[in-house]
Amino acid sequence: MRRLIGIGVSPGVVAGRAVILIQRAQVLRYQIGERRLAPELARLEKSRERSRQQLLDIRARVALRRPELASLFDAQLLMLDDPMLVSRVADIVREQRVNAEWAVHQVFHEFSSVFDEVADPYLRERKGDVSDLAGRLKMNLQQGVATPRELLRDLDESSVIIADELTPSLAAQVDWTKVRGFATDAGSRTSHTAILARSLEVPAVVGLHNASEVVQAGQLVVIDGTAGAVIADPTPEELARAALGEDRRPSISGGDAERRRPATTADGLRIRLEANIEFPDDLAAARYAGAEGIGLYRSEFLLTGSSGTAVSEDEQYEIYCGMLEGMAPDPVTVRTFDVDEDQLASRLAQQPLASGWAAEQERASRQGLRGLRLSLMRPEPFQVQLRALLRAARYCSQGSHGQLRIMFPFVSSVEQLREARRMVKEAAAELARRGEAVPAVPIGVVIEIPAAAYTADLLAREVDFFTIGTNDLIQYCLAVDRADERVSRLYEPLHPAILRVIVMVRRAAVRQRIPVSLCGEMASDPALLTLLVGLGLTEFSMTPAAIPMAKQVLAEVRSDDLRVLARRILKMATVEEIERELTAAFARLSSIHE
Ligand code: PEP
Ligand code: MG
Repeated sequence: MRRLIGIGVSPGVVAGRAVILIQRAQVLRYQIGERRLAPELARLEKSRERSRQQLLDIRARVALRRPELASLFDAQLLMLDDPMLVSRVADIVREQRVNAEWAVHQVFHEFSSVFDEVADPYLRERKGDVSDLAGRLKMNLQQGVATPRELLRDLDESSVIIADELTPSLAAQVDWTKVRGFATDAGSRTSHTAILARSLEVPAVVGLHNASEVVQAGQLVVIDGTAGAVIADPTPEELARAALGEDRRPSISGGDAERRRPATTADGLRIRLEANIEFPDDLAAARYAGAEGIGLYRSEFLLTGSSGTAVSEDEQYEIYCGMLEGMAPDPVTVRTFDVDEDQLASRLAQQPLASGWAAEQERASRQGLRGLRLSLMRPEPFQVQLRALLRAARYCSQGSHGQLRIMFPFVSSVEQLREARRMVKEAAAELARRGEAVPAVPIGVVIEIPAAAYTADLLAREVDFFTIGTNDLIQYCLAVDRADERVSRLYEPLHPAILRVIVMVRRAAVRQRIPVSLCGEMASDPALLTLLVGLGLTEFSMTPAAIPMAKQVLAEVRSDDLRVLARRILKMATVEEIERELTAAFARLSSIHE
């Protein structure tokens, strides 16, 4: 038995055979049986030959224009026949009975790390050739075989995924009825992977550092999302615990009427609780949990349709109409695509993200180009989405199908907002030309960049509503990458700066008389939720599964007590003091959290 400790982000205990997914390099590791061995080796050989042919072609083309550069490809051609490389890959497939992609990944990874220690800069540069060739071999292995996505859709009942990271775009392709739980090396409580696990209600552990290396493909593991642990080769007792589903999230109890009862504090302050969802199918969970609307639909999950193509205007229109009908008469707030450049390209083309150190560095240095900024720079998918949204708004204005609201993510200036509004007008004009006049749709912004928070008074004059996105706001205010487990200790919702910034944004909205809600993960934590109510917020959007508990907790506390508590806390200087005060007050004020 081996126990790995991480951060439990979605409770419950499950057991299953591990499927290893190395997403940074888009490599899946799985066991192959005796029968698959010869075809697997043949596949590897074919990939080597295809790669050789491609390199010869490239070399010949380059030689025509830049003869001095042609020899660069000789190094890669030589590597193809190096017994330390492709032949070693074949040995690993034979000995470890693993798929060829994984063996390529392993051998080339070891080989390229040798270059890190080389002092000669010329030789160190050759590392790029090694990873280039590895990428080519893997690409050619993919010809005609199942992609990681297809394999993940094809999992058998008892699987658990162990990944270095599990991006939302890949998670969107997994058949979650067949995956019992997952664990990742990367991630923190507010990473999208963690948010997804909670909304799917599958036990999950993140921030494990090296689980994808330690756990072997096919190995039996227990994922304990409650304790934040992954147990490889569990004892019979551990397995029995998992079989009982011990510590699973308590199912939402109470009758329909009780679940639908609106949230109020003990002294009658009405609190509006809406749901954050990632997939249109989550609507049922939102309704069941008693959500009073969808406060955040992360629409970027639509960017790849299940058919493997980007979702068209008509398809999006159908999806939005379905959501509005499903949620009627309550509102549905669609956040326009919030992706970065690489995610956009990879989702539209259904291609894996570029891998390797250089690609990651480049991505990190360009991380500010996402959300609305990217939509304005690459307007085509945005325009398609706006047209589909406005048509859906027209559809619901004709019947009794709830209300559509459009929300822009990652806004940092009034100019961007104006430009986006201009594009909404343009989309409306285009639809009018088609004979489909559309009604006015409420437009809001997510306040999640400090610049937006500091200009909230200016933005408030030009929008219909605000949503405070604390997941990003915290990371940008505190300069802590929310997905980087090494600094996750510093990711602190109770930092005085965060509480002040929330107060500032709320004040700007109240002055302008526009509604303001909060859709970050912190609202799902009952103690933090009560503090937020004390700070004056009365609208929240959260993972559906967190709504019933939020209602129970709110019913136990008095808003005037919470306001006094919040005033006290706003004077405190450190997270430690604030946490101590909040924990003590929460235990006193609420009898539920015992
Ligand atoms: C946020 O930033 O708080 C938010 C809700 O959106 P996301 O987690 O999708 O960035
Ligand atoms: Mg955000």
